[in-house]
Amino acid sequence: MQTDIDQNIKNIQSKINLACEAIGKNSNEITLIAVSKKKDHSMIESAIENGIYNFGENYAQELQDKVSKINFNNVIWHFIGPIQSNKVKIIANCANWVHTLYREKIIRKLNAECEEIQKTINACIQINISSESTKSGCSPDELIDIAKLMKSMKNINLKGIMALPKLTENKIEQKEMMDSILKCSVDLQDYFPEAKSISLGTTSDFENAIINGSTMVRVGESIFGKRA
Ligand SMILES: *Cc1c(COP(=O)(O)O)cnc(C)c1O
Repeated sequence: MQTDIDQNIKNIQSKINLACEAIGKNSNEITLIAVSKKKDHSMIESAIENGIYNFGENYAQELQDKVSKINFNNVIWHFIGPIQSNKVKIIANCANWVHTLYREKIIRKLNAECEEIQKTINACIQINISSESTKSGCSPDELIDIAKLMKSMKNINLKGIMALPKLTENKIEQKEMMDSILKCSVDLQDYFPEAKSISLGTTSDFENAIINGSTMVRVGESIFGKRA
């Protein structure tokens, strides 16, 4: 399990396939993002050899470091961590996607940095679905205003929403959170039909997330092994 990246990826892909079958979706509609934070770039290379091209990183410096070391074309980098203002430039330079946008100041700054290098970045709005004070993201009430702001930014391509729901064993609570995320997505698509992406699901809940409408799952430990 720890280092058998090849087998781990196959396992995850077959679980994704099963979850898709259960809801009559084609598994190529799901993007598997391998979350490589705190893992060496050699592990990313192993995942690439096994057909993974989407990677998620949480720390700007680490992202920059890995982007400079990985020399494969077609790799798509997703920034999925909290964004500090002084790291926006690095993120603009290195990431293809940002999943954790919601603060106006950061949105404006990211747009300006992308404009500077004539690049368009794909973005999801992070929603704090369980209104936990420890988690980042906007409230569902703020979603549409933030979406409108992002749509007005020429170098940001609004793709959808992202959430990191509270971990719970309570199935009813899980279902309620997934339903509220789906509702946010439906509301957003009323305004911006093209913003269909739902970035939801980690090692602990990706199958359930897919069954509930997720289009992008962010899986770390069950691909690369436990993090220190
Ligand atoms: C670390 C992280 C993940 C991956 O979690 P695992 O439990 O390792 O699958 C997914 N999303 C975010 C935002 C993360 O920070």
